[in-house]
Amino acid sequence: MAAAGRARLADYHGVGRKPVDGVVVVGMLAIRSGAAFDGVGPALVERPLVLVDEGRIAEVRAGGVPPPGAEVIDLGGATLLPGLIDAHVHLVFDGSADPVGAIERLSDEELLDRMRTAARTCLAAGITTVRDLGDRAYLAVRLRDELVAEPAAGPEILAAGPPVTTSQGHCWFLGGAADGVDGVRAAVRARAERGVDVIKVMATGGEMTPGTRSHEVQYGPDELRAAVEEAHRHGLPVAVHAHGVAGIENAVAAGVDTIEHCSFMTVDGVDSRPDLIAAIARAGIVVSTTLGVVPGFAPPPRISARLDGFLANVRQMRDAGVTVVCGSDAGIGPPKPHDVLPYGAAMLVECGFPPVAALRAVTSSAAWACRVGERKGRLAPGFDADLLAVDGDPLADITALRAVTAVFRAGSRVR
Ligand SMILES: [Zn+2]
Repeated sequence: MAAAGRARLADYHGVGRKPVDGVVVVGMLAIRSGAAFDGVGPALVERPLVLVDEGRIAEVRAGGVPPPGAEVIDLGGATLLPGLIDAHVHLVFDGSADPVGAIERLSDEELLDRMRTAARTCLAAGITTVRDLGDRAYLAVRLRDELVAEPAAGPEILAAGPPVTTSQGHCWFLGGAADGVDGVRAAVRARAERGVDVIKVMATGGEMTPGTRSHEVQYGPDELRAAVEEAHRHGLPVAVHAHGVAGIENAVAAGVDTIEHCSFMTVDGVDSRPDLIAAIARAGIVVSTTLGVVPGFAPPPRISARLDGFLANVRQMRDAGVTVVCGSDAGIGPPKPHDVLPYGAAMLVECGFPPVAALRAVTSSAAWACRVGERKGRLAPGFDADLLAVDGDPLADITALRAVTAVFRAGSRVR
């Protein structure tokens, strides 16, 4: 028991978390709402009371009376959820029609300032964790560290630094070019020394880089294996950008942790490869599928012509038991502002996912994929108090995710 009068939850509960009658707790939040999705489901918790202490969830109760001394926040009929997790964003890109040109005109300091704005946009939408899969000059790492000191100013960032790519390869302009096995190993080591959370490797070309082709490989199996070995030696997961089938095959063979996009793009369409999807499932590799566009923007013809094929593969991956999460690629163009993720969840439902699976894909499964599953993505004791409240029932209508009524980050209400 704190002599200064600050009782901790452990004191309140005592051993075995049994409430102790009459013990006054100071500094605790007691959040009431109409219902809650706990990150796993399958059903909503009715009339929950979520106790928050020192930035973490202390307890989730089904109703009951708040502990004496706790500050009560009543969210009315809203549904409370874990804050959303976007497994793939780019805070350096501004969501304009020319995001690459835009950053070329900015100094690092100017760009960092834009990224602070992008981070606030995420948080206001209830996106409380983002995995940044490609910055310039380790700016997302800098912003991550800033936000550790000031969590109410943005989501928690898991940063990759500049993506590792071949000379003139996809996103080379972000400064991460590295060639050959030795070059790739050195690039991974350099990122580990800078304190990144994940290694991003471009296994194939990409849509936003002229001179590269999404269906063609950039790195061969040897470079990818070297990247994985070196990253795992440093305790870091590897997220591999792969569109074309050969790139996906190489990524699976190398034992990467997540495959980004995984679109099975060919020169003129989309491939169907149940055998390769089965191999992804067997290997336990998570697919971070690139879904989510705001209304009013038609995808480029190359993408719209392939959309049915992409979605058929997403369905097939789910049916094969692949863990599919949502990585929006926020920032890469006007259809993808930094708060686009709820549209990605809605697209999973349109694609045939049950709403509970779509909600997991942006909460608990995404947390697991991003290696923060022990403290993010669930409403459970010990988890970070990153919370989102929405009007309506997202299990009945996934678009309710956009009707945000409150956001908490590390226990502080920010909206
Ligand atoms: Zn990306």
